Amino acid sequence: MATKKIDTALINAGRSKRYTQGSVNSVIQRASSLVFDTVADKKRATAGRAQGELFYGRRGTLTHFSLQEAMTELENGAGCALYPCGAAAVSNAILAFVEAGDHLLMSGAVYEPTQDFCSKILSKLNVTTTFFDHCIGSEIAELVQPNTRVVFLESPASITMEVQDVPSIVKAVRAKAPDAVIMIDNTWAAGVLFNALDHGVDISIQAGTKYLIGHSDAMIGTAVANARCWDQLRENSYLMGQMVDADTAYMASRGLRTLGTRLRQHEESALQVAEWLAQQPAVARVNHPALSQCKGHEYWRRDFSGSSGLFSFVLKKKLNNDQLANYLDRFHHFSMAYSWGGYESLILANQPEELAAIRPAGGVDFDGTLVRLHIGLEHVEDLIADLAAGFDRLAQ
Ligand SMILES: *Cc1c(COP(=O)(O)O)cnc(C)c1O
Repeated sequence: MATKKIDTALINAGRSKRYTQGSVNSVIQRASSLVFDTVADKKRATAGRAQGELFYGRRGTLTHFSLQEAMTELENGAGCALYPCGAAAVSNAILAFVEAGDHLLMSGAVYEPTQDFCSKILSKLNVTTTFFDHCIGSEIAELVQPNTRVVFLESPASITMEVQDVPSIVKAVRAKAPDAVIMIDNTWAAGVLFNALDHGVDISIQAGTKYLIGHSDAMIGTAVANARCWDQLRENSYLMGQMVDADTAYMASRGLRTLGTRLRQHEESALQVAEWLAQQPAVARVNHPALSQCKGHEYWRRDFSGSSGLFSFVLKKKLNNDQLANYLDRFHHFSMAYSWGGYESLILANQPEELAAIRPAGGVDFDGTLVRLHIGLEHVEDLIADLAAGFDRLAQ
């Protein structure tokens, strides 16, 4: 990725003749068994089974190899493992590197199921987790223990959107625990707005369910690793039976071709909505990484090449249940749903105490209701009019 512009790379990555066979997109090769013509062929496939030789369905087919090659190029890694969803990518990436007695350091503002995996599953394996509320390396250094094996980041944070100073965290961790594996959930940046591996992270994980698929109709997880971690990630994930079906891998590859264009529109509209929200009297704060009032905005400006469509804002007042229902139930363009990254706009609200309950290290410093938006590809004026009507309902 050093020389090619990202838009061009998104169009070309993973589209060699071997994968397209004369069509524009990669072929869909559905297979469990892959047939060897000769003993020599079987031997060759076995020897190269981890390096893109057709061997057995669980190791992937041409459709998977195409996507893996594309993701590896886009995120500048040594290889990419595929999973049936983002949560599987997170849990299996961590599992690939920890053993009983190890310690894990995790941002306390990561996606809630990621935290739950540590507190409910890893705890049973005698792997302990410390959650932290800090965004910079100097504060994290003191939390690194001799047995710290994995450091897990997510930037911007889930829901509250604070951006971390990833390079300073990497530096602090490397100084105290050179063997620790540093992972990041890079879903918000779709892997392309922030190149985690270029900033010293070992493994960049995405819920491809979001922007790679882009149409809210399939689930996939990706984990791109650097050379230091690739073999271990790949072999452990293989032993855990991790793979995705060829049709879904195809949809992720197809999503890549429009990712740059989609992201630019998500970015432009989300920025317009965020700036409009910042002017509204009912709004206390807008948590959009590109706005200076967002925590860690300076790190976003330094390290990211753009922003996507997901952000949140905090209302000055805390809505009661009736007010919340009256507000949320009557939007025309914002549906209530989990997930995000599709072409449609979404809205969800969190009360401060609900957020405090999923912030084990603290950091919820507001008392109003928080609203999270995903800005889709509708015309932005329609979205702003819908949100304006929402503020009218609040004022009633
Ligand atoms: C959605 C999401 C996940 C989980 O992805 P699934 O495909 O739903 O399992 C992980 N991390 C983040 C930041 C997400 O938004």
